[in-house]
Amino acid sequence: MPYKTLIGLEIHVELATKTKMFCSCANEFGKDANTLCCPVCLGLPGALPVVNKSALEYAIRAGLAFNCNIATHSMMDRKNYFYPDLVKGFQITQSDIPLCSGGYIEVDSKNGPKKVGLIRIHIEEDTGKSIHTDRGDSLLDYNRSGVPLIEIVTRPDMNTKEEAQDFLEKLKSTLQYIEVSDCKMEEGSLRCDINLNVIDEERGLKTNITEIKNLNSFSAVGKAIEYEEKRHIALLEEGKNTTRETRRWNEVENKTVVMRTKEVAADYRYNTEPDIAPIVIEESWIEEIRRNLPELPHHKKARFIREYGIPEYDAGVLTQSKDLSFFFEETVKFAKDPKQVSNWIMGDVLYRLNEEGIDIKDLRFSPKDLADLLELINEGKISNNIGKKVLKDMFETGKKPEDIVKGKGLVQISDEGELKGIVNKVLDENQKSVMDYKNGKDKALGFIIGQVMKATKGKANPQLVNKLVLEALKEK
Ligand SMILES: [Zn+2]
Repeated sequence: MPYKTLIGLEIHVELATKTKMFCSCANEFGKDANTLCCPVCLGLPGALPVVNKSALEYAIRAGLAFNCNIATHSMMDRKNYFYPDLVKGFQITQSDIPLCSGGYIEVDSKNGPKKVGLIRIHIEEDTGKSIHTDRGDSLLDYNRSGVPLIEIVTRPDMNTKEEAQDFLEKLKSTLQYIEVSDCKMEEGSLRCDINLNVIDEERGLKTNITEIKNLNSFSAVGKAIEYEEKRHIALLEEGKNTTRETRRWNEVENKTVVMRTKEVAADYRYNTEPDIAPIVIEESWIEEIRRNLPELPHHKKARFIREYGIPEYDAGVLTQSKDLSFFFEETVKFAKDPKQVSNWIMGDVLYRLNEEGIDIKDLRFSPKDLADLLELINEGKISNNIGKKVLKDMFETGKKPEDIVKGKGLVQISDEGELKGIVNKVLDENQKSVMDYKNGKDKALGFIIGQVMKATKGKANPQLVNKLVLEALKEK
C-alpha cells in the first residue's frame, strides 16, 4: 500500500491537586455550579495568580515518568482568545519554554516495541464549562476555571489506530500509577485531540493536517482515525487535498464534522504573563521527585514475570491498572500458585467487574478471601465449578468463602461409597446411553458424567466421578 498515515496526539490531563492552578479554590468535580470560584479564577480585575507548587510537582513527575527533560527555567504565557467560558479573555499557559520537553512512551506495534516521541508537556489552566440547555440558553459554570492541566503533545510517530490506542492506554496507566490524575475520560479529566494526515509515498504527495476534537473514549479515537484515514485517502485519489481545519467527532453519526478552519499560532498573540515570575526549579527538587517516583507499569510487568513466573500476557493485563496489580500481589501473599491467582483474576474476577461495572477498589471481598477460596479448591473441599459459584456469591454479599460453602452445603462429595451408589443409580436410569457408550459413542460418557454431577448438584468430585463411571461401565 503506498499510503502512510501519520498520527500525532494532544492530550489534556487535569491534575489531581487539592486546589486550582493559581488560587486556593478546591479542585473538585461534580459540585454545584459556581461554588468553587474566587476573584482569581473568575478573572476579576486586580486579582493576581500564584502558581500552585503541587501542580508543578505533578507535572514534573509526569515528565520524569515519560523520560522528558525538565526545564530549570521556564515561564508562563498568555494565549489570547475570546470564549464565554474563558473569563479573562486569555488562558495562562506555556508557549516558548514548556516545563518538560522531549521524552517518549513505548508502544506495541506490528513490528514490535516502538518509541513514540513527545514534543513537550506544558502546564496551563483549564477553562470553565458552557452548558447548552434544551431551551436554547447557554449557562456557564466556572468551577473548572483555573483547574491545573498538563498538555502532552506527541510527535506524529503513530501510523495506525492500534498504536494510538495503545499509546493512550500506556499514558493513562502511567499517570494513574504516579497519582498525577484519575484520568477519567467520562469526567473530562483526560481529553484527547488527534492530528492526522496521509502521505502517498508513491507520488510524494501529502494531505494537510486535520485536527479532530471531542473524543470521549479510546474507542472513539480509533473510529475517528479510521474515518479520517479513509477521507484523506479518497481525496488523494481524486487528486484533491484536505483543508487545514479542525473537525469534531460525532458519536451518534459515527463521522467527523467541520468545526472551524484552523487558527495558526499567530492568531493567539501569545505574550509573556506579566503577573507571574519566571519559574525556576532547583535540580535537587527534580532529583527528589525522581527518587520518589513509584514503580512504573512496565517495570512492574517485568518484575511480575521474573518474580512470580507468570506469562508476559498475564503480567501485561495485571499491571494495566495499579489497583488490579495491587490486588494480585496481595492475593499471591496468601496463595500457593501465582498462575492460579492470575487465571482467576483475569477470568472470573475481571469478567464480573466488567459485567457489574464496578471498580476493583470497590470489591466486597479482600485478596485474602480470594486466596482462601482457591485453597478450598486446592484442598479438594469444593470443585472448580462450585468455586466459580462461590465467587459470584462473594461478589454479591461479601461473605467469606468458607461461610458460603458451609451455609449452602456445597462441600464436595469425595466419599467413594456414596458416589458409587449415585453412579449406579444414574447408569440404571440411562440404559440407552450405556448401550451407546458400549457401541463406541464416546459422547455418551460425557452425558452420563453430566447426569451424575446433576444428581449431586455439582458437588461431586469430578475426577472421582470420572474414574467411578469408567469402572462401572467396564462391569456392565
Ligand atoms: Zn479561585
